[in-house]
Amino acid sequence: MLAVVKANAYGHGLVATAGTLVDADGFGVARLEEAQILRASGISSHILLMEGVLDVTGQAEAARLELDLVVHSEQQLALLEQGTAAWRFVVWLKIDTGMNRLGFRPEQLPSVLGRLGAMRARVSEIRFMTHFAASDERDNTMTRKQMARFDSLTGGLAGARSLANSAAILARQDSHRDWIRPGIALYGVSPFAGETGDMLGLVPAMRLVTTVIVVRDVHRGESVGYGASWRAALDSRVAIIAAGYGDGIPRSLPNGTPVLIRGARAGLVGRVSMDMMAVDVTDIPGVATGDEAVLWGPELPVEHMAARAGTIGYELLCGVSQRVPLKLA
Ligand SMILES: *Cc1c(COP(=O)(O)O)cnc(C)c1O
Repeated sequence: MLAVVKANAYGHGLVATAGTLVDADGFGVARLEEAQILRASGISSHILLMEGVLDVTGQAEAARLELDLVVHSEQQLALLEQGTAAWRFVVWLKIDTGMNRLGFRPEQLPSVLGRLGAMRARVSEIRFMTHFAASDERDNTMTRKQMARFDSLTGGLAGARSLANSAAILARQDSHRDWIRPGIALYGVSPFAGETGDMLGLVPAMRLVTTVIVVRDVHRGESVGYGASWRAALDSRVAIIAAGYGDGIPRSLPNGTPVLIRGARAGLVGRVSMDMMAVDVTDIPGVATGDEAVLWGPELPVEHMAARAGTIGYELLCGVSQRVPLKLA
């Protein structure tokens, strides 16, 4: 299992997460900087640079850090050919089976393999990978087509294979092969639209919690917040909580989006501002300054807030900003 810890481990803290996932057979990161942080923290496991390197300086650093390299483009293949003979990499050859993001096109494969074969000193092993475009939709036929294309391209070749992201790991046993590459599922969140982690037997790893700053009375007809976008239909009690778009809460959230206070759902009223948001606590007795407010966590799936914001749980997790302190439970 290659545990995908890119983007600060989906917002969970790169080093703490890698240190926790002791059973992973390796880690997948997107950028060289992420691999540098892992190595600097003493992580000696396999690390795969999933976007590969951009230039010879990056390649030298990847060699120094003993990283595995994705090679997905002509430029990267040429870099490898120009590299110093002392550099040796496990190369994960990325094949584009339909996503049109990274990877060699099927018709390029014979010549790419020929060139890799001529670099035996620099390439200690060749592995094959591809990435699914639509595996988050359980019945999308594209996944099957991509698998078939990958199999027909790599069928007779020696080398480990890797296809499956979280969605394929959960929905398609037949895609697992030699290396699975889970990201979002590791963090207990669903890769599928319309499903939450708990529906898949997963437990969210992150709770995003803040506190009530103040509770105020709002009279019928008065507005709350920027743009006066919400007006009280009845005399109400509103809690101002310390979370806003400066922490990664989307400003696009509509009125009514729930947070949990004293175990009950309080709906957002008015616009999310940079450092604060307001929630209606009229029907929750006893709410007071200092109370905990849960934005998401095991008791309130992040997928729900994501749906209200028109996005996916991934984006909210990755978007938790730097000023939010991360604590290990
Ligand atoms: C991000 C990523 C993954 C993990 O995807 P999830 O949907 O989070 O499981 C796997 N493989 C590659 C190449 C990725 O970029």
